Amino acid sequence: MSLADRWRAARPPVAGLHLDSAACSRQSYTAMAAAAQHARHEAEVGGYVAAEAAAPVLDAGRAAFAALTGMAAAEVVFTTGSRHALDLLLSRWPAGRTLACLPGEYGPNLALIAAHGFRRRMLPADGTGRVMLEEAAAALAADRPDLVHLTPVSSHRGLVHPLADLVGVCAEAGVPLVIDAAQALGQIDCAVGADVVYSSSRKWLAGPRGVGALAVRPELAGLLVPGPEAGDENVAAQVGFSAALGEYLAAGPAAVRARLAEVGSLSRQALAGLAGWRVVEPVDEPSAITTLAPTDGADPVAVRSALIAEHRIVATAAGVERAPLELTGPVLRISPHVDTTETDLAAFAEALVAVTAAD
Ligand SMILES: *Cc1c(COP(=O)(O)O)cnc(C)c1O
Repeated sequence: MSLADRWRAARPPVAGLHLDSAACSRQSYTAMAAAAQHARHEAEVGGYVAAEAAAPVLDAGRAAFAALTGMAAAEVVFTTGSRHALDLLLSRWPAGRTLACLPGEYGPNLALIAAHGFRRRMLPADGTGRVMLEEAAAALAADRPDLVHLTPVSSHRGLVHPLADLVGVCAEAGVPLVIDAAQALGQIDCAVGADVVYSSSRKWLAGPRGVGALAVRPELAGLLVPGPEAGDENVAAQVGFSAALGEYLAAGPAAVRARLAEVGSLSRQALAGLAGWRVVEPVDEPSAITTLAPTDGADPVAVRSALIAEHRIVATAAGVERAPLELTGPVLRISPHVDTTETDLAAFAEALVAVTAAD
């Protein structure tokens, strides 16, 4: 069986077309059963006793996250998602509060960075939004920030930054590199030596919603001592996420990444030249996120609604708030997982033409 067939067979049949993994992938039967089983165990023996019994599963989940992020020796904690992870990290960041990031940084991250009192400065990017390494190295050497924050694959554009190269640039400059891997984990190799990596469960790893993880290098791990603000935790969701991490590792990270890159390229080929839309990414960008910018006034929000209502196709309308320093208008985003076929993509292209004409 191919990877696509195994991925499809591992979860319920889709109602329509699901082209929205960057928002929330479809969970597997195994991940759903693991979470449900834990909830049942809570009812049988009590929530806190069940949590103790689940400790080995959660340890395996954290170890899988550490393996996928190249943080074998690191401290890994579960969070309620990527936003929570960044909030936790920044709230405990010790000394200097000057942060460098790219113009394409995720809007909600920019808001958190500001809320925690960090001064922000921009790293240089080219016309597509991609970091320019030599210029970035020079900027970091000239005026060293306290950390670099990078979102290696963004939510508003399927652009992939040269993560491994930037790790080298930051190491050279002696600046810790913090990675928002909400979109990168599962799509590109994130085990390349960053100092902090955090991500969400529900996106490319296809775990449940409302859970994520944060991995921090031992030298910075003092940051993660649980504070008095720690609240209750959704252990069932952590168990489901752990199951999804295990399944992802079993599927073969390199094979999944290669297939996602292929699906991205097939998407851009299927959508090239559609009237009223421009594909934003280079055809062979190794990401399964493809965005379409309207060229003739179509409204991505209305188009998304019509795709769901009339064709049962799920995509995303991404507004400028996703990347307020880079996006100049809203885009329509598709983010198919490994089981999406060329027939599916052709069906999407046809539906998009139909709803655009009616818009
Ligand atoms: C989805 C997303 C987040 C937020 O993740 P949550 O788990 O919902 O907090 C952060 N950064 C990027 C790039 C995202 O795509």
